[in-house]
Amino acid sequence: MARKYASLDNLKFLLYDVHNIEELFDYEYFKEFTSATIDMMLDASIDFSNRELFPFLSEMDRRGVAFEDGRVTVHPQIYNVLRKLGESDWINATRSFESGGMQLPQMMHYATEFIYTAANNPAIGYAMLTAGASKLIYSFGNDELKMNYATNMLAGKWQGTMAMTEPQAGSSLSYITTRAQHKSDGTYKITGQKIFISGGDYEGIDNIVHLVLARIDGSPKGTKGISLFVVPKMRVERDGNLADNDVITAGIFEKMGQHGYVTTHLVMGEQDNCVGYLVGEENNGLAYMFQMMNAARIGVGLMGAAIASAAYYASLEYAQERPQGRHAGSKNRDEKQVTIIHHADVRRMLFLQKAVVEGSLSLIMECAKYMDLSAAGKGEKYELLLDLLTPIVKTYPTEMGIVSVSNGLQCLGGYGYCVDFPLEQLYRDIRIATIYEGTTGIQSIDLLGRKMIMNDGRSAKLLAQAISTTIQESAAFERLKPDAKLLEEVVVSYKIVLKKLVSKAVSGRTESFLADANLFMEFCGLMVIGWQWLKQGISACKLLEKNAENVLFYESKIRTLRYYFSYELPKTQGLITRLLDNEDITLKEEKEYLI
Ligand SMILES: Cc1cc2nc3c(=O)[nH]c(=O)nc-3n(C[C@H](O)[C@H](O)[C@H](O)COP(=O)(O)OP(=O)(O)OC[C@H]3O[C@@H](n4cnc5c(N)ncnc54)[C@H](O)[C@@H]3O)c2cc1C
Repeated sequence: MARKYASLDNLKFLLYDVHNIEELFDYEYFKEFTSATIDMMLDASIDFSNRELFPFLSEMDRRGVAFEDGRVTVHPQIYNVLRKLGESDWINATRSFESGGMQLPQMMHYATEFIYTAANNPAIGYAMLTAGASKLIYSFGNDELKMNYATNMLAGKWQGTMAMTEPQAGSSLSYITTRAQHKSDGTYKITGQKIFISGGDYEGIDNIVHLVLARIDGSPKGTKGISLFVVPKMRVERDGNLADNDVITAGIFEKMGQHGYVTTHLVMGEQDNCVGYLVGEENNGLAYMFQMMNAARIGVGLMGAAIASAAYYASLEYAQERPQGRHAGSKNRDEKQVTIIHHADVRRMLFLQKAVVEGSLSLIMECAKYMDLSAAGKGEKYELLLDLLTPIVKTYPTEMGIVSVSNGLQCLGGYGYCVDFPLEQLYRDIRIATIYEGTTGIQSIDLLGRKMIMNDGRSAKLLAQAISTTIQESAAFERLKPDAKLLEEVVVSYKIVLKKLVSKAVSGRTESFLADANLFMEFCGLMVIGWQWLKQGISACKLLEKNAENVLFYESKIRTLRYYFSYELPKTQGLITRLLDNEDITLKEEKEYLI
């Protein structure tokens, strides 16, 4: 039997009790679903992961990927997984019936993605990219692109990628130079190179469809001159045959982690024979790509939480089995050694992990519910909240996921550092999550410099209101009152801090305004996860009042909430002190002192 890497009980608690997925089934759009179908799908996902994903996690890491004579080899199971997920309609599941999808609630799709990713994070990346890329073609591409390329991607037969980064254009995509030249037949000649492209090439798959950002000759400088193209490895000719499209792999990157997930350096148009097909309108490419990027940002946050989940259960199991030392205070040398879970510091490390994993997953479900309510036609409020929460849901689960996995590794002592146990791989695998899909620095600037102030700060206010509503709801439960009060104080500080920072922006001190965006992000992450823990506390209290069966499960929720509010939320105090401080320590004139 596979080791535990995710908790089905926790997923069901979040889906049903905290975020009320059943409410969605009342909407016309989701009326095909019932809790029975959801339960069945969850069980099937665990079954699939236990068979097709988890057993290959360590093997994929050790075998890695290879590049020889221009050919890339990945673990053969990568292709099997992609194909099986395509055949089961998972890649297409959330899309509408008219588009051939299942109208599966996003909440449910994320629940299954969480299971898959916790089981084998590198393998699932290929399917996630394919889902995002095909969705982009369906949203903005013409019928020919849908028919020629997206159909095979949805079926899991062809791989999709997201090809944005270039050597000189990483965080700042406005510096992209890949060139697109008009051709007389309405297509474009593409020349340029892309680096760090995940899933960019491998043997065994019939085609790879790159979604490429490029600049059409004569387009304006900056982001306003970027267009989006489908640039396949093999192009579909008029007669339906596949022809080589002059996209070559110049090399692959040797990485710290995610060894099973290939990262390629692509060169397009070296033989002057690379054709690109415009998606949507010229010069609107970045706006289109944001559909895929926003979904990928939430997906990377989910990946952080899922890897941390796998690490939590591995370290919990170890802590329950490893005998070492005596109870604190015991002087009896004849006493048998206790297992390390009997030491308070080990329990602290375990609570930390549980708080990060389950708090992050709850936030992911909150965001998914907003997506579902928007799909069901429930208005702008949820779109604004989702937009605001996207950089946070990318950042907290990844930044704190790294801390969480590090604590998991620490629970194993020396064995944590050795390849005989999974923690060292998970620690290497999760490290990329704060870098790709926009670094934490970039997410933080997006949160403070854009999302918090757009629409006159409307989204920022909506978030404070949503948290306050939960605080009010918690008043019905005596045991939650002290924690609710703490969160209320943090929300007051959030408003004060934001006002102070925005005043810098208003007075034109942009560099000072954004200098500590990263700390503001950390503060918001702590506040928002506190909100999610209070929500979980409310649901647990309600179920305990109703004499629900699994008392230990609900009490464990309330103990973890108490851990979070005692150990994690108070970290906001230090951040508030710094964020309200008038002294600028890191502005550009200070760089002289970095010697
Ligand atoms: C394993 C892997 C897989 C990847 N997969 C893909 C993929 O599939 N497709 C794709 O297109 N790309 C992919 N990438 C690229 C990835 O998205 C970039 O590496 C990332 O966006 C950062 O860009 P960069 O590496 O050029 O770093 P830089 O942009 O040079 O950033 C370096 C540091 O400077 C900071 N920084 C940069 N600009 C600013 C600023 N204006 N203000 C404050 N701080 C700033 C950053 O936060 C970072 O800490 C992948 C990368 C890796 C390593």
